[in-house]
Parts: sequence; structure tokens; C-alpha cells
Amino acid sequence: MNDKVKSRVIGIDIDVNTTTIAVVDLRGNIIAQDSIQTEQYTSINSFVEALSERVIALAEANGGYENIRSVGMCAPSANFLTGCIENAANMPWKGIVPLAAMLRDSIGLAVALGNDAHCSALGESAYGVAHGMETFITITMVRSGLGSCFFSNGVAHLGYDGFAGEVGHACIEDGGRQCTCGRRGCLEEYVSNRGIIRTARELMEKTDTPSILRDAKELTLESILDAANKNDALAIEVWRYTGVLLGIGIANYASIVNPEAIIITGEIIKMVYPKMWDVVEETFKEHVFGNIRDKVKIVLSAVNDHERNVLGASALAWKVKEYSLFK
Ligand SMILES: [Zn+2]
Repeated sequence: MNDKVKSRVIGIDIDVNTTTIAVVDLRGNIIAQDSIQTEQYTSINSFVEALSERVIALAEANGGYENIRSVGMCAPSANFLTGCIENAANMPWKGIVPLAAMLRDSIGLAVALGNDAHCSALGESAYGVAHGMETFITITMVRSGLGSCFFSNGVAHLGYDGFAGEVGHACIEDGGRQCTCGRRGCLEEYVSNRGIIRTARELMEKTDTPSILRDAKELTLESILDAANKNDALAIEVWRYTGVLLGIGIANYASIVNPEAIIITGEIIKMVYPKMWDVVEETFKEHVFGNIRDKVKIVLSAVNDHERNVLGASALAWKVKEYSLFK
């Protein structure tokens, strides 16, 4: 009789530069970590081979492979419903990549694959401020864009094809800026790193407002923040404009979902938060459906940014049925 309950999972976070592998216990403690350089593996077969070796070695060195229940992976443009990375713009592997099935066949354990936003929401639900919440939205602000996922009645709403929650590609301006998705006016083109820099550039072209940014060697998020901290009127306007559009975007989202909370997370949020948050909240209240206006909490994530995706991936690992080639 095999009645042993396996108490650990593997969480894997794949980004364009680094793939982080962690052994995680039931309570979300990271027991051990390792990493490989994603960009070194131009073929998916060599990546899966290297990843499998590291996963097995890390498990063997930390409590044994036999104690690993399953594996969760987080990757850009990943689809939980198909287990594939689908047409990821920045990754070395093009087209449809059946990564979950490839890793499962290689290491003999159940493997689940989700995108950054889905894993981030699962991490918040399992170990973060959304713990115990049934209906909530997470919005992830990273330099490259805006990811999102929402839970409805305790379950992540993935959509019919697995692409729900794409608030970054919700249109905020008819005929607006060209988006990387091929359409125009997407919210992401205004509130991502490139969008904020473009706003600064456009304000410099369209207005005569004096600004230290006009003499800056390079326009970056940091230089625009720095200028705003020095009371530069143009830089302050950049953050106001960004905050208004983000506020409208999340107000529309909240009016549809009616969440208990909106949890904001991601690598740039702590940096940009102090500069535009009052505007975001003000705009949100102005535009959200009246009956929920004062009920929705907008909160910052408490999950450590460096651990967010790997913990989210570990939470995903618990969602798949246990399976082993070696039973
Ligand atoms: Zn778009």
C-alpha cells in the first residue's frame, strides 16, 4: 500500500533571461533553489534536458525525488488549458511549445504550466494578501507590460481559451498608440515602461513646458521619477496622465468583476506607486460602478517580488492531479 502523502512540490519560473527552480513545502517555504540561463538554450529540447537534470538533482539533494508531488511552471504566454507556451514574443522558442508535456515525459511527474499573471494570482491566494478571498483581481505591472488574472468564487477565471484577464490589451483610446499585439490604443501602451517614456516624449513634442527631461541623455522610468521628485512640471504631468489611464482601466475591470480587492504587484509598482497612486485611486473612484465604489480595496502585494512567480508556480503544482511514471 502506498499511503505516503508527498509534502513538497517544485516551482519553476521561466523568464527570458533566467529560469529559477525551487523546492517548496506545503506552507510555501522555499527549501532550496537553483537556476539556469534560459537564453542559452535556443532549442526547446536542450532546455527541457537541462531543466530536467537540475530538477532531479535539486530534489535528490533536498529530501528526495520520491517526496515531490508535482511540478508547477510559470512562463510568459503560457496557457494552463493546453500546457503550451503559445507564440511568446520574447522567448527563444517560437510558435506553440508543449512544455508541460515535454517536462512530464522527461521527469515522470505531473507538470502544470501557467502564465505569469495566473501564477501570481495563485501565489497571492495561497500565500499572500488574497488568502481567504474568493473574488479578487491581481494586476502585475512589469517593465514590459501589464498582466492580470482574476479569481471568481475561489477559482481562477481563465476564460474559454485560457486568455482571460488581458486588461493590458483592453482599449483605452480609440485609434491610439500602436500596440505590440497588432491593435491600437491598448492600456499597456500607456502604463508600461515604454508607454510612460512615450508619454514623456509626446509631452515634450506637443508642449512648451520647460523640463529637465529635455536635456536628459536618456529617458528612463528612473529619470522621469527623479524629475518628478524635483518638482518638474512635465514629469509630474507624465505620472498624472499615467495614473488617470490606469485608474480608468482598473475601474472598468472592477465594474465587470465586482472584486473584494484589487492587488497590485510587479517589479515597477513599488517604484512608481508613490508618484501616481493618489491619482489612480481618485480616478478609480470617479469611474467605478457606484454601488461598489467604497467597497473595493486596492492593495499592494506583500509577496516578495523575487519569489512571487516561483511561489505562484508552486501553488499551481498543487492544482494538478498527482501522477508518476514510477509508481
Ligand atoms: Zn495590445
